[in-house]
Amino acid sequence: MPSPARLFVDLDALAANFHTLTRVAGAPVHPVVKADGYGLGAAAVARRLLAEGADTFFVARVGGGEALRKAVGSKPIIYVLDGCGPKDVLRLQASQLRPVLSSLEQIKRWLGSDGGPCGLHIDTGMNRLGVRPEEAPEPFAGLEMVVSHLACADEPGHPMNRAQRAAFELAARKYPGTVRSFANSGGVFLGPDFIFDAVRPGVCLYGGGPEGRPDERIRPVARFTADILQVRDLLAGETVGYGRTFEADRPMMVATVAAGYADGVLRSWSPRGRVFVGGELRPVVGRISMDLMCVDVTGLEVTAGDTVELFGPNHPVDVAASEAGTIAYELLTSVSPRVPRVYV
Ligand SMILES: *Cc1c(COP(=O)(O)O)cnc(C)c1O
Repeated sequence: MPSPARLFVDLDALAANFHTLTRVAGAPVHPVVKADGYGLGAAAVARRLLAEGADTFFVARVGGGEALRKAVGSKPIIYVLDGCGPKDVLRLQASQLRPVLSSLEQIKRWLGSDGGPCGLHIDTGMNRLGVRPEEAPEPFAGLEMVVSHLACADEPGHPMNRAQRAAFELAARKYPGTVRSFANSGGVFLGPDFIFDAVRPGVCLYGGGPEGRPDERIRPVARFTADILQVRDLLAGETVGYGRTFEADRPMMVATVAAGYADGVLRSWSPRGRVFVGGELRPVVGRISMDLMCVDVTGLEVTAGDTVELFGPNHPVDVAASEAGTIAYELLTSVSPRVPRVYV
């Protein structure tokens, strides 16, 4: 029995987004495939991007790097954004992973164990990971890349962007000949000043937008669908689901769909959520439950066995995310492991 909920991943659209980002940046794209490739499956995503010419990838965790190494073989470069914790040295080395070192302590640890190639994270105002520019060390053996990360790249006019860019350029002067990697997806669209030597996009590869909407050149990649299990008639005054939060004010038709929060459909998607069904966007009615959700299909020609699209080409992931009060990143990475990824 095929699963009633599925996440289709359009690898051609992924490849097209990779080439679009490469063209816009005019610099190599080093894909970010953290969180299992933003939920789409890092192995399949990275293999396709490798075939399209990507040679360097970023993951967040050492474990993600180990899994990716198995998927892509020994050749591609894999950076681990978390850096190098006390227990990470041997694991990083065993899988030929490069930590993006983010403190003087980590640099000491890595160099002390003949670490090998690595990156250095310079914090320019995000205050999450990285050494402060004023504590940036002298160049050291193995340093191949300096990295910084924008806090407000999704707001092109934000003055923080220029301030961080200037701080990064200044700090990176200390490391001539080292690859400078600054822009994430949003940064790629901030203009040539923000590109430096290589860019590091994530969400745009996967069809999401840096500003809560995709750039028009970015193609949708993920399509989350689920089957209708039952279509039922409702009388005026009847209610739907837990807590009776939805009451029909007229006779209605409601479809019960095989997807719930155990599949990664956020409960916060009710009551503002909409799904694409029968050629239209139709509202979610009542609370999202663990395995099921209900949709108003009044007047549509739909029956049990038909499929609805929760997000995808007909309902952009950014729009669905804003209905749930969140961002495309969270929607994509929330799709649970029980939903099979289908590569098309
Ligand atoms: C997640 C992340 C990225 C990619 O960000 P997008 O907004 O998805 O393009 C790049 N660099 C760092 C350090 C990150 O944490």
